[in-house]
Amino acid sequence: MEKIQNFIGGKYMDPVKGQYLDNYDPGRGKVYSQIPNSTQEDLDLAVQAAEDGFRVWSKMSIDKRSRILLKLADLIEDNIKELAVAESRDNGKPYTLAISVDIPRAATNFRFYASSIVNFSSESHISEGFMVNYTRRAPIGIVGCISPWNLPLYLFSWKIAPALAMGNCVIAKPSEMTPMTAFMLGKLTKQAGMPPGVLNILHGEGSGIGQAIVESTSTKAISFTGGTATGKIVGATAAQQFKKVSLELGGKNPNLVFADCDLDEAVKMSVKSSFTNQGEICLCGSRILIESSIYDAFKKKFVEEASKLNVGDPFDEKSDLGALVSEAHLEKVQSYISLAQEEGGTVLLGGNRLPKDGFYLEPTIIEGLDQNCRTNQEEIFGPVVTLDKFSSEEEAINQANATRYGLSCTIWTNNLKKAHNVAHQIHSGIIWVNCWLLRDLRTPFGGMKDSGIGREGGNEALQFFSEPQNICIKL
Ligand code: NAP
Repeated sequence: MEKIQNFIGGKYMDPVKGQYLDNYDPGRGKVYSQIPNSTQEDLDLAVQAAEDGFRVWSKMSIDKRSRILLKLADLIEDNIKELAVAESRDNGKPYTLAISVDIPRAATNFRFYASSIVNFSSESHISEGFMVNYTRRAPIGIVGCISPWNLPLYLFSWKIAPALAMGNCVIAKPSEMTPMTAFMLGKLTKQAGMPPGVLNILHGEGSGIGQAIVESTSTKAISFTGGTATGKIVGATAAQQFKKVSLELGGKNPNLVFADCDLDEAVKMSVKSSFTNQGEICLCGSRILIESSIYDAFKKKFVEEASKLNVGDPFDEKSDLGALVSEAHLEKVQSYISLAQEEGGTVLLGGNRLPKDGFYLEPTIIEGLDQNCRTNQEEIFGPVVTLDKFSSEEEAINQANATRYGLSCTIWTNNLKKAHNVAHQIHSGIIWVNCWLLRDLRTPFGGMKDSGIGREGGNEALQFFSEPQNICIKL
């Protein structure tokens, strides 16, 4: 059985204590590889390597750093098939999605920040004849990047690309459930000419090596993407040392469908925003709120379209949905389907695990639930969506805002004024009007309320990963 290794100081290394964890193939429901269960000893080696790497990387010209990151983006594209196979096998997502979205986007992340850093400028303020103030933005040092399992290489690269572009060295931990593409990236960084110790990748448990990275006095900033409960622990731990921290957390995203929308388009895209990646995208719409006058028409078409989705082997190109990431996660999602029924909901479609090896669940649509019930308040993070009605703009806004989360929202309307008015009153970091998941990478990305603090994307990320220093000169 394949055993993967940590990547420290430009070398693949076994964990110091020799402990490993099983890694599952969710599409088959079987263990297929083993990953290091890293400990403090591995972190000590990574810190030493990162300190050495920082002396080289932080002094390297921006142009050279940029060229190395551009080369890395090219290498990801050159190895797209192998990476997509690994991503799909680790996560259970359809290979067609991994090869068309996840891996290309990882390459784009490196290319985007390789170009951004060349164009990044810091501010200067001149009080004519009196003083000049300018802001120097220096790399912070060693930073910790911790990412989840749902979009493995995509989110891993989304964090480490700006950190590296800014001149920091990184100690990164991918989710223990999807370590394979991060493991493969180590080799590509070497081929791209990245000096040893600049990117170090440790595998293992969140509560073990993840927590150790956050607690370490050597990591000066933490960029974390994951669940809100874990984010609370990470935020509290980082606060003890006044560490910079960015938290990209969970969501319970509303999808508002107004009667004046293009119904066919709203249905088609709502099927995507509900079930893409088995509903395991933080930005999936999980509560569809529909204006009463078109509720029945929307429901009929939506159920009809969703029932055409194929659930099956991630490597079968006919599969629209693959397997959920683990048996434990599948059971959690199923428990919410049972809860929804206990809460008075009616299952309109799906609800069942498929009788085959692997962790497969049918796309599930539920109606008849109050917005205050647990099913509509808690993040399920699977192919489960609820339908509900509203009868006025005000009610739509109130329902949309009625959870502790504030990550994203989609609005379907052909009334421009309404679109703006509603968008401005929704407490979410990202609002889509008549679309879903489109994003210019230059825009700030992140959530409000319990969906996180800080923003990633564009210059926000470069600013996060730098230490501003103001210098004032009297004229
Ligand atoms: P998670 O359980 O919170 O884990 C996220 C990462 O944190 C994993 O690498 C995990 O390691 C690690 N971790 C766990 N405990 C830790 C600790 N005490 N200290 C440091 N690291 C720790 O989340 P997940 O289940 O992987 O991902 C799903 C969640 O992520 C959902 O809530 C989803 O909405 C959210 N998400 C948010 C965004 C966004 O941009 N807002 C994007 C994607 C996903 P292990 O895997 O080894 O436990």
